[in-house]
Amino acid sequence: MFPPLLTKHIIHPLRRVTSRWHRDRHSIYLDLERSQRYPLDRLIELQVAKLRKLLTDAAANVPYYTKLIKETGLDPETADHSDLLKLPPLTKSVVRENFGDLTNRRFKKDDLKKKSSGGSTGEPVHVLQTMESKLFNSALAYRNNLWTGWCPGALHYKVWGAWKDLTKAESSVKKRLFNHVYNFHTINAFTVTDEILEKMYNLFRRRPPTLLESYSNILGEFSGYIEANRLDPLNVAAVVSSAGSLYDHQRKAVQRTISPNVFNRYGCREFGSIAHECEAHEGMHINMERFIVEYHRQDETGLGEALVTDLENPAFPLVRYKIGDMARPLDTVCGCGRKLLSIESVEGRVTDVIITPDGTRVSGEFFPHLFKEFDGIIAGQVIQNSVDEIDLLLKTRKSFSAHDQETLVNTMEKYLGTSVKINVKHVDNIKITPTGKYRPVISNISPPGE
Ligand SMILES: [Zn+2]
Repeated sequence: MFPPLLTKHIIHPLRRVTSRWHRDRHSIYLDLERSQRYPLDRLIELQVAKLRKLLTDAAANVPYYTKLIKETGLDPETADHSDLLKLPPLTKSVVRENFGDLTNRRFKKDDLKKKSSGGSTGEPVHVLQTMESKLFNSALAYRNNLWTGWCPGALHYKVWGAWKDLTKAESSVKKRLFNHVYNFHTINAFTVTDEILEKMYNLFRRRPPTLLESYSNILGEFSGYIEANRLDPLNVAAVVSSAGSLYDHQRKAVQRTISPNVFNRYGCREFGSIAHECEAHEGMHINMERFIVEYHRQDETGLGEALVTDLENPAFPLVRYKIGDMARPLDTVCGCGRKLLSIESVEGRVTDVIITPDGTRVSGEFFPHLFKEFDGIIAGQVIQNSVDEIDLLLKTRKSFSAHDQETLVNTMEKYLGTSVKINVKHVDNIKITPTGKYRPVISNISPPGE
């Protein structure tokens, strides 16, 4: 292991002298360090100023918005949060169909980086971003990591499942060298096997990381593995769960087996880290210096479709972008003293619903809670291809009996009705989306509009 104090006190500060990228990122970070302590009205003012700049630029240089802003009569120079409601939510299909018209003419294509995310049907959405936008995201990620107790140089593992990220991380010698100096390691868990879980367990047992970052589904499987094999709990200092929040029962299991200190992160490929839990563990603070989060068509519990506006990427403005998740705001002020607004929970995707022939809608959230009642189930997924037939994919342990399977199917029939045929398929792995999201339910018959 590279001496962490050497990295923290010498190498990390030195990089700001030798690299412009690090110098610029640090200056953004210093601003973010201050603004996270601003009173809420000052944060809102900051957002309004950025929103006006973004919309004014978009009206002049982004054909899609030139037309839309004209049609709605919105005045970009005086717009505030309430004016946003005049613009329709931006769906992924609109982004796909208007890629050229959403690109800001002020920028040279060659200066922009393309990012792609998986849609629910697997069809990717492409967006462009500037280098400044990347820097800002990196500074936000740095701030969010500091909230967990991590510091540069501290042992940091990222257990990841996207091929692209991993091959990129491993490709450059310079990057590998700095990963070594920063004690940053990645583990490929594209398919989660017992061998990988065993390797992770032994590794973290020998040398517990300060920070373990992983997809929620992998953390769920890892804690299940530790409990099923009756292994001693690990002593990881902090765990960050990304790509989908941990369900309550999973979070408790992770706390018992991996680390008591669990942080949810809400993010996606198009935006990076939108919201992140702090050390007070009361919901996830929105990174308000960059993102406006709205809750569209809220139900009586406050749960609504998350619409996200990115204030720091003028090259490809995403305003009221319908990200495809359901989220609920938190009304209380966090105990940490930061006034950044918080999201209480993110609860699965808008389209993650099973619809039965009689029109009954069963929420995707139902299934993970049902699966956890069976010790023998490691992971499960429900795929609906037609209204009267679903595939139930199960990754199980040897202890999962025929009787368990019968009980499971009977319980599902109680909720779905017997007119829905359930095909049980035992699989070695439950696929996650290209961006790492585990989806308990995939409906291929949901209405479009995502
Ligand atoms: Zn807080």
